[in-house]
Amino acid sequence: MTISAAKPPLDILLCAPRGFCAGVDRAIQIVELALEKFGPPVYVRHEIVHNRYVVENLKSKGAIFVEELDEIPDTDQPVVFSAHGVAKAVPEAAKARNLFHLNATCPLVTKVHREAEIHFRKGREIVLIGHAGHPEVVGTMGQLPEGAVSLVETEADARSFQPRTPESLAWITQTTLSVDDTAAVVRILTERFPAIVGPHKEDICYATTNRQEAVKRVAAEVDAMIVVGAPNSSNSQRLREVAERAGCRVAALVQRASEIDWPAFDGIRRLGVTAGASAPEVLVEEVIDAFAERFAVKVELVTAAEESIAFNLPRELRDAAE
Ligand code: SF4
Repeated sequence: MTISAAKPPLDILLCAPRGFCAGVDRAIQIVELALEKFGPPVYVRHEIVHNRYVVENLKSKGAIFVEELDEIPDTDQPVVFSAHGVAKAVPEAAKARNLFHLNATCPLVTKVHREAEIHFRKGREIVLIGHAGHPEVVGTMGQLPEGAVSLVETEADARSFQPRTPESLAWITQTTLSVDDTAAVVRILTERFPAIVGPHKEDICYATTNRQEAVKRVAAEVDAMIVVGAPNSSNSQRLREVAERAGCRVAALVQRASEIDWPAFDGIRRLGVTAGASAPEVLVEEVIDAFAERFAVKVELVTAAEESIAFNLPRELRDAAE
């Protein structure tokens, strides 16, 4: 990194793991391989992952992003469902229209869908801990008939929740929540409803957990933290909150270096840098380079966990990947 006598020194503690997780990597690959195998356009329902840079890049290669299937004309071209998962009604509607669809739902989200189905089959009332309106929550609730799943967002919700069948309850979660907040909500539900059942290990995914853990390690040692990620990315927002709660004076979420509020970083000596699971590494480099223009930076890696997970591609694209 650049060292200049004129610039103030800045130690950057770079969190690891950060950025792309296996589910995001797979979802992007699905769109890219579909473009390669079937040619453009490839329709994608909802942002494939919550990152504008990724979306624009795929658009430039011929992907067309829509929010609903009815925006797609009758076509033989593939339609990809985003990593966040979709309600059951979506593939059904695609089938009814003979649309060739590829499902980029992260397998760890699909796992939560299956858990919900099992609880439902066993006659349990289901509590989903998550954020209203997030596409993953819409998709998970949409696995079952309306009313089968109740959403609990906060500790206050958990305290006031009135189940129809308190003796037969189950909880599941969104995959990208705050580990600490979720533990608190689960604690309240378990105290109120001792018979409630949940996953052996919570549904928050490995990538969310590891990125939060790395931020916790770094946050206590820095004056400020930058999270590279999108405002609509749940796991990125949680990383910013984790840093703030750990005592970082400044904890900022930025999509690009151009969004950095420089006066807020005046006088800092140590900076933490991380990225949400949908943010590409090139944007992390862009942010570090922007700091290197103003500070004499020294970068140190802080590793909280090693990750080696990779998910299989859909059958229809495996040949294209070879
Ligand atoms: S954040 Fe977790 S659940 Fe979401 S795509 Fe990545 S691995 Fe899958």
